[in-house]
Amino acid sequence: MKGLPAETDFVVIGAGVAGLRAAIELAAAGRVLVLEKKKVDSGAPSQSPPVTALGDEDELILHLQDTLAAGDGLCNPAAVKLLLEEGPGRIDELIAWGKHHGTKLVFGLESPHSRHRSLHSSGDTTGNEILRALCVKAESLKHISVAEFAFPTHLLTDAGRVTGVSLLDEKGMPHDVSCSAVLLATGGFGQLFRNTTNRDVATADGVAMAYRAGAELSDLEFVQFHPTALYMKKVPRFLLSASLRDEGACLRNIELNRFMSKYHPLGEQAPRELVSRAIVHEMEVSRAKDPFVYLDMTHLNAAKVQKRFPRIYATCMQHNVDITEDVIPVRPAAHCSMGGVRTDLDGKTNVPGLYAAGEVAATGVHGANRLPSNSLLEALVYGARAGNAMREQAKPVSSSKHEPKAAALSNGPVDAGIEEMIAQIQALMENDVGIVRTRAGMQKAVKGLEDMAPRFAHPKTRRAHEAANLHLVGLLLARSAQAREESRGAHYRMEYPDHDDKKFLKHSVVRGDKVVFLF
Ligand SMILES: Cc1cc2nc3c(=O)[nH]c(=O)nc-3n(C[C@H](O)[C@H](O)[C@H](O)COP(=O)(O)OP(=O)(O)OC[C@H]3O[C@@H](n4cnc5c(N)ncnc54)[C@H](O)[C@@H]3O)c2cc1C
Repeated sequence: MKGLPAETDFVVIGAGVAGLRAAIELAAAGRVLVLEKKKVDSGAPSQSPPVTALGDEDELILHLQDTLAAGDGLCNPAAVKLLLEEGPGRIDELIAWGKHHGTKLVFGLESPHSRHRSLHSSGDTTGNEILRALCVKAESLKHISVAEFAFPTHLLTDAGRVTGVSLLDEKGMPHDVSCSAVLLATGGFGQLFRNTTNRDVATADGVAMAYRAGAELSDLEFVQFHPTALYMKKVPRFLLSASLRDEGACLRNIELNRFMSKYHPLGEQAPRELVSRAIVHEMEVSRAKDPFVYLDMTHLNAAKVQKRFPRIYATCMQHNVDITEDVIPVRPAAHCSMGGVRTDLDGKTNVPGLYAAGEVAATGVHGANRLPSNSLLEALVYGARAGNAMREQAKPVSSSKHEPKAAALSNGPVDAGIEEMIAQIQALMENDVGIVRTRAGMQKAVKGLEDMAPRFAHPKTRRAHEAANLHLVGLLLARSAQAREESRGAHYRMEYPDHDDKKFLKHSVVRGDKVVFLF
């Protein structure tokens, strides 16, 4: 877009699935400015995501049961019901918008769903197809403008109400935009951990901005670790989807022995967190300095594997691993967050004028763990709901002109000191607030992060802002994990391996510097 406006009606931060879906809803009520920190197309969830929806023959009740079971007592049933009731309509819409570029969407099975209800496009790039359909629709609406490479640094507030956004533009110049309401749709925060399937954009910016503006955060301690990400030095942790195990891929330890039957009767089909913990245990037992296990598909029909997983096949081939002939080195990696900015079922936070939708938000739809494939559906359904609710906020915005600020801040150059600090945060989080959590480990992480705080006090560059955001959310997550003295869903405490329903069948809520537990 040509130049950023000083004011608009609505600002949406993040041009992923939730952000674009909300923008489409908002376009009927006013001007929408979508801020995206990278190029929009690269905002696609990068691999094989099938999105869940109900097929014709599916029964709502089964999907509800699967979702509530995965959530381990902490789902908000009303939020799940809305997801399932409104999901099919959102999917139909998407298929209609996608027809412009010939998307073919079909239903398939992904464990632990009981029935066929995952939506796939041809091949394994469904997430990209979904995003493309939303882009096509958004581009057709004249009220929507998208500012790429725009990096919001903080929310502007007036008497406790969000009134706009302060950002660094493409050239690193500061700029303020006033508006009636802001939607955070910045996705997950996997970059808090050293091993993650998330792209480099997932640096917790939305959660950090919301917290600094006074928003409550919820359920931060629940982070889902995907058991199988490609593990090779200097190669991004490419996700090897659960569908591979559904097709018959098995896990082998470093001595090439199968091990999952020791841990769970469902073997490789066990819930993700159990598979991840089993892998962690096998890696510990191996005493390797740089441990991993293998995923093995070599016994499956090679032609079928190539056809069903073209992208995974091609990506592994780029790194000289032929998945039809070689065992694949894998490790668990941080994948999805269940918690985030606390909202109601319309994306409304406790701060007037501030909304959140998609993975950045905590509506209670996932509880303590996500059902695989509910995430994109959540982004579609709750993105649309937040957009719809924000329309009511439409009102004339202040016409105060924002003068360009004197000091030109910078997008770079790369600051080696900052990269080092980010690596320290990621190491603390991975080792001490990861898949298996201990009291001593979390104390160490909290103390380490608290000690680092002064280094993040005055961020100047984009990367320094990202580092400060990672630091803040890492600390809040570690405190939330420390406060939950039980194991539930994706949160596993060595000293408290069981549920404690009496004390903790509640959501953790970060309020200022306190963590409280609420229904
Ligand atoms: C590898 C992988 C596979 C997955 N597979 C599945 C699956 O099979 N099924 C499923 O349902 N879900 C899957 N998921 C999860 C799903 O992709 C996400 O939950 C979903 O995309 C979240 O949508 P969102 O709109 O909230 O965020 P995203 O789609 O992640 O979009 C967030 C956007 O915000 C932008 N952004 C971030 N910070 C800022 C900032 N400060 N300023 C401006 N822009 C910002 C990002 O660049 C991005 O474009 C997968 C995720 C990953 C990583």
